[in-house]
Amino acid sequence: MEIGKYSWGIGDRFTHQTEAQLRALILAKEAGIDITPVWNKSNREHTFIHSEPASTRAAADAAVKALGWKDQYFCDADHINMNNVDRFMDACDFFTIDVADYIGKEATAGEIDSFVKANENYTGNLTIPHIAKPFLITESELRAIAKKFLFAVKEAAVIYQHIVKAKGENNFVPEISMDEVNEPQSPVEMFFILSALAQYKIPVQTIAPKFTGRFNKGVDYVGNIKQFAVEFEEDLLVIDYAIKAFGLPENLKLSIHSGSDKFSIYPVMGELIKKYGKGIHIKTAGTTWLEEVIGLAEAGGDGLEVAKKIYDKAYKHRDEVILPYATVINIDFSKVPTPEEVNRWDSKKFAESLRHIRSNPNYNPDFRQLIHIAFKMAADMGNAYTDALKSHAGIIGKQVTENLWERHIKLLFGI
Ligand SMILES: [Zn+2]
Repeated sequence: MEIGKYSWGIGDRFTHQTEAQLRALILAKEAGIDITPVWNKSNREHTFIHSEPASTRAAADAAVKALGWKDQYFCDADHINMNNVDRFMDACDFFTIDVADYIGKEATAGEIDSFVKANENYTGNLTIPHIAKPFLITESELRAIAKKFLFAVKEAAVIYQHIVKAKGENNFVPEISMDEVNEPQSPVEMFFILSALAQYKIPVQTIAPKFTGRFNKGVDYVGNIKQFAVEFEEDLLVIDYAIKAFGLPENLKLSIHSGSDKFSIYPVMGELIKKYGKGIHIKTAGTTWLEEVIGLAEAGGDGLEVAKKIYDKAYKHRDEVILPYATVINIDFSKVPTPEEVNRWDSKKFAESLRHIRSNPNYNPDFRQLIHIAFKMAADMGNAYTDALKSHAGIIGKQVTENLWERHIKLLFGI
């Protein structure tokens, strides 16, 4: 089971927008770009919303059927580990094996020695085609990389084999993620991580490193774009070389987590994948939930009331909603409006404050980030929220499709 060159993680927290999301990929297809839809939802999201992976599968299947989508599509068990993978086994055919928690734990001395020995031929000057300067790899550096990552790869292999046992080999797409850590991985680390993945026989098809800069949820990239471009390009080339050197799957590609709304690096990534003819996977789960709130606000009346109620709860419970996302948001509370203020807003003011259009003077990224992580508040409202989604399905669906197509996909592919 091989995933296509371009694929898009279109997570849907409440599983009401699968058709609207798929419509964006149909627009891409009509423009000549084939993008594989991957509905991803993490264990954390399922827990907050009290949903099960089977509901994601059912919604994906239904949307595919309703819109007559004939190409491949997947359901991603996003950020799983041994403790929660079983919950996803039947419903999913894409597994994001998260090794972040294992990075830094050491493999045995024997395992580290044999890894260093097996990769000895890459020490000295390592020349990667199209990267101007060779990397100088010392044995002690190689050993340090093994100490940092080998155990994590071994753990990934245990989880991978566990999935193989349940689903059979080649019946799912394996991704390895290591984005939820503090330090970015360098292209050299990426090279030896791929070597280890090959050694432990994980046919990884997508890999999600942590890049330089901040990938805060729901807002633009914060960091040095030039440095990001260098790192991204080197990662592409390192992967290309590693595929041949280690016999990894031909379609192995980068996966960009927290990939929604990183508008300032979209053209950079788009140009580089085009330059080298490479694929990409981008996860944009949270952005759809925000479009639901924007759509409710746009609807006015009871829709706007629901949007305001969510904000009121998010603001009052802000310490609680922030906790699980502390490392992936950066909210300046001096710039966040009070619920009393927001309660006086009309549809336009609320929607424009939330919608990610930087040129709009009402746009408030701090307000946006707070709502981004507040979906648990909507989940706690139960039917009051989902009934509103049904009543205003038309206007909400329009926001969802437009956001993915107009602001994300077109920007990445330079359409
Ligand atoms: Zn991630």
